[in-house]
Amino acid sequence: MAQIATLGLYGLGTMGSALALNILDNGFGLHVANRTETVTSAFRAEAGALAARLTTHASLADMARAMAAPRAIILMVPAGAPVDDAIEELSAILEPGDAIIDAGNTDFHDTRRRTALVEGRGLTFIGMGVSGGEEGARNGPSIMVGGTRAAFEGIKPVIDSIAAKFDGSPCADHLGPDGAGHFVKTVHNGIEYADMQMLAEAYGLMRYGQGMAPAEIGARFEAWDKGVLKSYLVEITGKVLQAVDGETGKPAVDVILDRAGQKGTGRWTVIEALKMGQSASAIEAAVGARSWSSEKTSRVAGEPILSLPREAVDLPASDYESALLAGRIIAYAQGFRILATASADYDWGLDFARIAEIWRAGCIIRSALLDDISAAFRGDLPEGQLIFAPSFAGMLRDAVPALRRVVAAAVGAGHPVPALSAGLAWVETMGQGRGTTDLIQAQRDFFGMHGFERIGGEAGSHGPWWD
Ligand code: NDP
Repeated sequence: MAQIATLGLYGLGTMGSALALNILDNGFGLHVANRTETVTSAFRAEAGALAARLTTHASLADMARAMAAPRAIILMVPAGAPVDDAIEELSAILEPGDAIIDAGNTDFHDTRRRTALVEGRGLTFIGMGVSGGEEGARNGPSIMVGGTRAAFEGIKPVIDSIAAKFDGSPCADHLGPDGAGHFVKTVHNGIEYADMQMLAEAYGLMRYGQGMAPAEIGARFEAWDKGVLKSYLVEITGKVLQAVDGETGKPAVDVILDRAGQKGTGRWTVIEALKMGQSASAIEAAVGARSWSSEKTSRVAGEPILSLPREAVDLPASDYESALLAGRIIAYAQGFRILATASADYDWGLDFARIAEIWRAGCIIRSALLDDISAAFRGDLPEGQLIFAPSFAGMLRDAVPALRRVVAAAVGAGHPVPALSAGLAWVETMGQGRGTTDLIQAQRDFFGMHGFERIGGEAGSHGPWWD
């Protein structure tokens, strides 16, 4: 694809409007349209002086027709049918050399299908993951691009300009063909689920197990944000826990319903991991915990019915910090294992060190650990496992004992810590050369004559069960 001449954006919601202002702010001209036209005029007003570089249109089709070729049109609409509808509308108008860029949180299978469809029509298709929420989209998100390299080269100047920068380098790159960008964004969100859940579990234990006030816990998170846990999520957790509700004067978290929804990316991470024969226990647990949270009425009913005793815990702050560090390493490591499997299965050639680098700024899971992760992927990585890199193995050796103490104390006292305990179970398993699947194999052979692999012997051996 040649360098794009004109840039358009369709969908001026939270992300689309922020991204549009970012593009304009970086000196690029931009055409925009939105399904509901009044939103477009409101956006023009919001753009203020930046509107000098803005051209608004009544509809997607009007916008596409008015733009000079070659065009690149960014779709920032909900994943699913709205993207398919926009593609159909644009296919009738666009010409070879033009590009459609889906920047929403799309399932990578859809991106693979659409890439084949759109490119079969002689157009270019790019599936682009954008992370950082509204603030990131406005001031610099992390951008994960999937598509042909030629397609990326056409939009690279714009992408590099609008992306977050880490030490001056853009947190954006072409990661691989077709669904690669959207898949990496999906797994990014899976890791985000796990990290958020673990932070919430530590909060829950300090709050309900140790009787600490939210502000006191928030101060701990604020302090941890200056150490090994330094990250956007720890930073905002500290701020959230110290915030006070203006209406009631109560801690802000205490006026919020403990029920969270999910849009799909966490669940997709788990589904794809399982489909590829992988497991990401911490991410699975986090996705499951969100589902449990949505069963609010059942939980309220369950409290007096089950009447489970809960006791106090007494753990030092340093144990929580180390446990969260171990948990975070596990969450990233499980995410990268999924990426590695997908890269091999779909022949994407993902560069894991580069992915860690583009997550260092702009995105929700940015953290101090990502520098170490990219260094680990560029160095000696036994078995391709992040947790076996000398630096991470050392960190885990130091931090896992604290994770064990936190999980043991929580479980013993009746406080749920699903992601921390699931993550711990995985790392314990990975550090155990001989596990217990010999027994599982024997059971399978017993009831189903499945056969087993004898140590130092033949596969398909049978045991003496039926003698
Ligand atoms: P919003 O709900 O704020 O905005 C949705 C936009 O899509 C609006 O412009 C809306 O137009 C338009 N739209 C909705 N349905 C249709 C349709 N059927 N046909 C055409 N246009 C439609 O969503 P966000 O901006 O938050 O999200 C957009 C995409 O970005 C999603 O894929 C989301 O998952 C992803 N994303 C969101 C992030 C976030 O933090 N919010 C972070 C990263 C990615 P109208 O004004 O007419 O309703």
